[in-house]
Amino acid sequence: MFEGCGENLLVDDLTGYKGNYSYNAHNVASSASGPRGIPYLSATLSNTPSNILLLCDKHHRLIDKIATVDFNASRLSEMRNDFTKTVDKLLEGLSFQPIPVFSILWPIGGHVLSEPDERDIANCLSRIKARIVGGLNMLSTNERSYRKKPEIFLRDMDEIVESEANSILQQTLRTSHRAALFAFGPMSALVGLGACLGNKCEITPMLRYRDGSCWIWPQELKVEKPYDIKLNADELAETDEVILCIGMTNYTESMKLQAEQLNLPIIEVLAKNMGNAAIPHPDNGHELRSDLHLLLQSLYDEHKIKTVHLLICASNAVCIFVGQAFDLYQPDLLVYDFAGDNMEIRLKITTEKGIIKLNPPYSN
Ligand SMILES: [Zn+2]
Repeated sequence: MFEGCGENLLVDDLTGYKGNYSYNAHNVASSASGPRGIPYLSATLSNTPSNILLLCDKHHRLIDKIATVDFNASRLSEMRNDFTKTVDKLLEGLSFQPIPVFSILWPIGGHVLSEPDERDIANCLSRIKARIVGGLNMLSTNERSYRKKPEIFLRDMDEIVESEANSILQQTLRTSHRAALFAFGPMSALVGLGACLGNKCEITPMLRYRDGSCWIWPQELKVEKPYDIKLNADELAETDEVILCIGMTNYTESMKLQAEQLNLPIIEVLAKNMGNAAIPHPDNGHELRSDLHLLLQSLYDEHKIKTVHLLICASNAVCIFVGQAFDLYQPDLLVYDFAGDNMEIRLKITTEKGIIKLNPPYSN
């Protein structure tokens, strides 16, 4: 339990004999005159389990004989607490459900990102109480052709995205589509990917956390709803098209300008604290997904809206959650993305014979 000690207590260093070489050490000594002893209290405390530390011989001697003053009772209690917390966490990890893990990395304007490492994966998956089974399935890894000629990616985006989504759905059939997904690329492509994966599955996207330059969900637990949805139902009566502005990382001038040019009613979904980690926990992502699902459904059913212009500025994970809100019996989605100082349509998401379909921007 001594901080940083990695001694194997089942073998004797010197002789190599196997056995139990651990020591039960008192924090507060059993007698008032012993190390960290407390008059009147020592006797009562001495054999309560929380007063005992499991130590190796060296550290036992260090705290009791060599450097007693450096290790007071509160310091040792802290060590013991940290140790038990770590052990609890590791034991909990063993009970996590094993799920397959996928990565899809598409370059953004020639810029590439590397795969998550083992630590990233374990950290991210602990937030959904899961652990990786097998290795990381790398589907797309910054193909050279997309990197050198981004226009090829944009041109074929609908097909590229559909084929990656299908490959994940195929490979997760046996796990009832429970999986984790580390995906990065243009926002419009990620929304399309989410739409193809759909919301019947339990494929959870993971956050590329910009502040830490790593993959992690910064919050250990779900936070209070971190965004507001602003909608004026009266405006929706006269139209069958609306704009949906989702500003999580930012609500940029080009989004506002584009909305102004379209001159349609605007529904705003804006983060209370804008930033890359505006949605800081996967459960907040799931909540956003179901809120948007309900919203799109009601636009279609109650307000007879046929087309939604989606202007989005959000993290990689949020883009996928947003795509997963799309469903059958909903308006078509026109997904915009940033192009220099402007925005342009990159993808049209529709349904065709009960299947979700991606199309190039200006198809009928
Ligand atoms: Zn030790």
